[in-house]
Amino acid sequence: MNVVTLGCSKNLVDSEVLMKQLEGSYRIVHDSNDPSDVMVINTCGFIGDAKEESVDMILSAVEAKKEGLLKKVIVTGCLSQRYAAELKEEITEVDGFFGVNDLPEVLKSLSVDYKHELLGERLVTTPSHYAYLKISEGCDRSCSFCAIPLIRGKHVSKSIEEIVKEAEFLAANGVKELLLIAQDLTYYGLDLYRERKIAELVERIAAVEGIEWIRLHYAYPAGFPEDLIAVIKNNPKVCNYLDIPLQHISTRILKSMKRGLDGAKTRELVLKLRKELPGLALRSTFIVGYPGETEEEFQQLLDFVQEVRFDRLGVFQYSPEEDTAAFALEDDVPGEVKQDRENRLMDLQQSISFELNEQKVGKTFKVLVDRQEGDYFVGRTEFDSPDVDNEVLIESGNLQIGSFYTVQIIRADAYDLFGKVIS
Ligand code: SF4
Repeated sequence: MNVVTLGCSKNLVDSEVLMKQLEGSYRIVHDSNDPSDVMVINTCGFIGDAKEESVDMILSAVEAKKEGLLKKVIVTGCLSQRYAAELKEEITEVDGFFGVNDLPEVLKSLSVDYKHELLGERLVTTPSHYAYLKISEGCDRSCSFCAIPLIRGKHVSKSIEEIVKEAEFLAANGVKELLLIAQDLTYYGLDLYRERKIAELVERIAAVEGIEWIRLHYAYPAGFPEDLIAVIKNNPKVCNYLDIPLQHISTRILKSMKRGLDGAKTRELVLKLRKELPGLALRSTFIVGYPGETEEEFQQLLDFVQEVRFDRLGVFQYSPEEDTAAFALEDDVPGEVKQDRENRLMDLQQSISFELNEQKVGKTFKVLVDRQEGDYFVGRTEFDSPDVDNEVLIESGNLQIGSFYTVQIIRADAYDLFGKVIS
């Protein structure tokens, strides 16, 4: 059986949970090109491009089934959660369409019983020394451009006990780095404990033996919990790293986006993080081409990025999503202008990233080695998350994948560093 995961790390965790339940009943491969009898496609339904990719994957699987290369095609995840009725009508060759909370039903369609005793266990698909840890599902926010609450539903925190049990399972299986993920990380606990518990949760995970790095992704700026700043500052296992999507800096646009804070408050929070957490690697994400975005408002964003000098940055072009609040607004920024703004923002970021990387030359860092690639071993510092951030390329004879080394940086380019092992 081939389980294919599209979309984000939260979807990947769902696939890993599914694969653990299937283990023993099927020979499982993940994202493989090898022929297999059954394909389960865990789809993404977030924005236009992602939806297209998911539909293409389904259609090619159906084609393979018609050619007798596949016996069964099962579709799950966000796209089929959102468009099950349309998909069922249009792609009748698929054996089953399931939503994001239908694990037992997916298993039943594969003649496998749900095993409650495997709660908190997964078949980890990332390199065995790091894993994503999803602490909640869904989102209570109403950002105007975002369909996730429509797909994943309301915010549901897992209990601290359940999450710690999962962290212990992962640590016992060799995981050293945990990447905490959610739709809205800093909202953790408000539903279950009636108060923000992210700081306490991180401390509890840090106490799990074997875990050496904890990385925080998808923090939300409004209502940012102060006590989390103290945990990042004082707990040596928590990477001096924070991923906090800000989306824009213009107050008019942030208001229209229903982000719950204006430009001044956004700036205030970022400067506070910079002041209280020296050396913090700050990752953020911005949307360009939101309805009505003027050249002046975009210039405001460029100036903000220039001022803050984010260590890591992602940019999305606005894409209208039906049933979201922004869908009613005219998508009036032309495609070529969106593309131009994305290019200008990423060009600025490239020069900032290069300058910041140059400042690392000569310094030494703790590096976790992820893989070997040609003549290099490739790793990351605590300031780099897998797949999205910088890497450290080490020309060395023999390093252990999954081990930490002290590395001196000898050269830098815009998005990568080159180093040699000191110890
Ligand atoms: S916080 Fe906003 S952007 Fe993020 S998942 Fe929730 S609604 Fe979407």
